[in-house]
Amino acid sequence: MIEIVFATNNPNKLEEVQAQLPKGIKLISLGEIGCTEDIPETQNTIEGNAIQKANYIKSKYNLDCFADDTGLEIKALDGAPGVHSARYAGPQKSSKDNMNKLLYALKNKTSRQAQFKTVIALNYNSKLLLFKGICKGEITKEKAGTGGFGYDPIFKPLGKQKTFAELSMSEKNKIGHRGRAVAQLIQFFKDNH
Ligand code: IMP
Repeated sequence: MIEIVFATNNPNKLEEVQAQLPKGIKLISLGEIGCTEDIPETQNTIEGNAIQKANYIKSKYNLDCFADDTGLEIKALDGAPGVHSARYAGPQKSSKDNMNKLLYALKNKTSRQAQFKTVIALNYNSKLLLFKGICKGEITKEKAGTGGFGYDPIFKPLGKQKTFAELSMSEKNKIGHRGRAVAQLIQFFKDNH
């Protein structure tokens, strides 16, 4: 049995990722290791933030762990909100405000092309490894669906006629950015055990 800390305070993500893992891998939450503080996320790239979070847990708690960082990159906005996705509309980190701001920013743009990018940084057996997952799609004109979180109601993945918020969790995991990065993480564990 591999036990590994997933450095996230987002219970949706913990559930999403645990659902993809084989039986032999158990995720430990931050609560279970007594980490209640906000983990610093001060880098200016998605990769940098994932590494910073994974290294924080390793150095403070001396536990193997992984952390993820995700950004929504919009072509017509030169990659914004990107690393600033959580706080796009302000420090309150409101998904509703973020979506409204994005819909407004794209109002007169011809391209609505977008991609989610997830980077997972893994600290394991004294090594640091990175796994990346991308999901391409577009920003819809209106919100649709009640599932998921964050920008899910306005992101329609390529090849689907529904937003992420209208797909089931397993459908989202199969084609989603985090699901793709997690698939690589799982493959790594399979290859190295
Ligand atoms: P984080 O780095 O994973 O915390 O994500 C940064 C921002 O992107 C947050 O505002 C999240 O709501 C948003 N985000 C991350 N993953 C997803 C997703 O799977 N769907 C929609 N929004 C997401």
